[in-house]
Amino acid sequence: MTIRSTPRGARREAFRIAEYSVKAGTQVKLELPIARLMSGTPVALPVLVVHGRKDGPAVWLTAAVHGDELCGIEIIRRVLEVVRPSSMAGTVIAVPVVNIHGFNRGDRYLPDRRDLNRSFPGSARGSLASRIAHLMMTEVIARCSAGIDLHTGSDHRTNLPQIRADLDDPSTLELARVFAAPVAIHSRTRDGSLRQAATEAGSVVLLYEAGEADRFDEQALQAGTEGVLRVLSHLGVISSAPVEPEPVFLSRSTKWLRAPKSGILHLEVGLGDEVSKGEKVATFYDPFGKRLARVTARASGIVIGHAQRPLVNRGDAFLHVAEHGEALSADLKIAESVT
Ligand SMILES: [Zn+2]
Repeated sequence: MTIRSTPRGARREAFRIAEYSVKAGTQVKLELPIARLMSGTPVALPVLVVHGRKDGPAVWLTAAVHGDELCGIEIIRRVLEVVRPSSMAGTVIAVPVVNIHGFNRGDRYLPDRRDLNRSFPGSARGSLASRIAHLMMTEVIARCSAGIDLHTGSDHRTNLPQIRADLDDPSTLELARVFAAPVAIHSRTRDGSLRQAATEAGSVVLLYEAGEADRFDEQALQAGTEGVLRVLSHLGVISSAPVEPEPVFLSRSTKWLRAPKSGILHLEVGLGDEVSKGEKVATFYDPFGKRLARVTARASGIVIGHAQRPLVNRGDAFLHVAEHGEALSADLKIAESVT
């Protein structure tokens, strides 16, 4: 059966990206050339374009901007099982592996140790990171009005599913509520990130952080997939999202606790736990069982990240707590904004 969303003869225009043209109602995998490896092998940025039959917004989804952050790749795969070009409206441009070089090496960075997420908006004549950033900005981000960048914790640290976004911007706050990760953290930075550059280029941007590098974490995958689908539903790209959202804990400030001594960390709280100021959260021992230090929470809030490795040096960040915000209540009603 053919679904016609436009009158006979008024087929939706094809989506143009680089030298490609993607017909309405189709999904295409494109390869945008980046550079050759030193061996001469060409390297390209794989991009999936899902161009719906019906008019609607263009939305980008990115993962593995840090090459070892794999959860977002699986989230995009699960999302694209639901988003079908024959029934959706608008266009989804998915780039599951932005940092191809890092991904292939199991590395967060580019081969020259540059952080791709500090290289935006980039330039056509800059470093490799800068050129990839520029390609993303000109071919993907510039064609969209909203986007979600998917990340995980780094350096053997894990994160509770959380959105980081400019919550002072009403459109961004609305999408953060609809995404409905357990926690949404206000952050506005000028750091050369994809999020910053895409915001300046006119996208409403969410950054999703969940789980850890080099691993799949089912809670992170599920919260991410459901959140992305809710946002796509809210924007009218898909007709309904599969799961109703839970209330979001909104925070304007987060703090890392640092190890007071070098030694072996015993955490006494976990991801998502509420902690009160003064509550014991960790004990440090030496390898022979001698207790070196106890650490208490410096503020009340919710645990949004922690070290996974028990071995820590003095000064290492080991526990990340999102403090209760003053301006934003934790029990915002979000269900009514989901269509
Ligand atoms: Zn990252």
